[in-house]
Amino acid sequence: MSVERLVHFNIRDYQSRLLSWFDKSGRHDLPWQGEFNPYHVWLSEVMLQQTQVKTVIPYFNAFINRFPTIQSLAEASEDVLMAHWAGLGYYARARNLQKSAKLICSQHNGKLPDSYDRLIVLPGIGRSTANAILSIAFNQATAILDGNVKRVFVRVFAIDQHPSEKEVEKKLWQIADYLMPKARTQAYTQAQMDLGATLCTRTKPDCTLCPHQSICLAHKKAMPERYPVKKAKKAKPAKTKLYYLYRYQNKIYLQKNNATGIWGGLYVLPDSDCQMGEYHEMLIENQKHSFTHYDLYYDIKMHYLTENEFKHEMPSSALVEGDKTGKWVALDQLDDYALPAPFKKQLCQLQSS
Ligand code: SF4
Repeated sequence: MSVERLVHFNIRDYQSRLLSWFDKSGRHDLPWQGEFNPYHVWLSEVMLQQTQVKTVIPYFNAFINRFPTIQSLAEASEDVLMAHWAGLGYYARARNLQKSAKLICSQHNGKLPDSYDRLIVLPGIGRSTANAILSIAFNQATAILDGNVKRVFVRVFAIDQHPSEKEVEKKLWQIADYLMPKARTQAYTQAQMDLGATLCTRTKPDCTLCPHQSICLAHKKAMPERYPVKKAKKAKPAKTKLYYLYRYQNKIYLQKNNATGIWGGLYVLPDSDCQMGEYHEMLIENQKHSFTHYDLYYDIKMHYLTENEFKHEMPSSALVEGDKTGKWVALDQLDDYALPAPFKKQLCQLQSS
């Protein structure tokens, strides 16, 4: 069905209802709003790709404070950069930001480009992010389609297939482009994000307050939570690891991960993969961290080194592995190191013990 036939309501009314709702109930005091500095908009969009607003705000403020310009981001050392991203997850985002910052400095005089063709070639910027930047920072009529917007659309149109299916995604982009207004692009984009994040939420959509209530087919069917339809879930594989926390006086031993892969570029505890079996059972009882593609069950084994061990016999599992580099770090300097979120809390507790 063509998009013109699919859209069963008046577009102008739809836009104006959404914008009025946004004017009254949207979020207007986020730290990247105000002047809508393109660098700030870009950074916020990348941070928000996998993370909620309330988590992003303190990271955004600290990041802008430390890297106030695209040039300062381009010139940052990897350790300082990762230390400011540690805890946000999906670390490739930070590395891509810096790669893009370097390109922006070398090719665009340190200024974020204002055209789709030049944004889309930058690492870490996809179609929706490029369009969000253009509509928010440069007032262009470019539609976004992030997870929140997809959820709202599949509900408004009661689409019975999962939005990740290629055909469905294509249709959703057509809808997004078709509904995009020419004016107030900044407010419209922000309104869509706010509606999906605060009202049309995954588990408890509040239809009574929603500007789309009169046109929403999922609401008419009285089952908005049914949309998006569930995808058959594949069980995630489980991995187990035992981490070693070597401590000598006020120092602990950390290894820096390679730049690519899980927790790339971050400082971690030395580990040993554990095989299934008795030990696996023991670790399952312990701590879990979920990655996109697997669940990690882990335990941390503390080992206080004697002076002799510290000076002469580094335990074998703490030796430098491959091109990983290890170092002793004083507990009161842990804040300067990019640690994965599950370790950060536990290691920082040692500072006060
Ligand atoms: S009416 Fe309900 S389900 Fe439909 S868009 Fe609004 S909040 Fe979502």
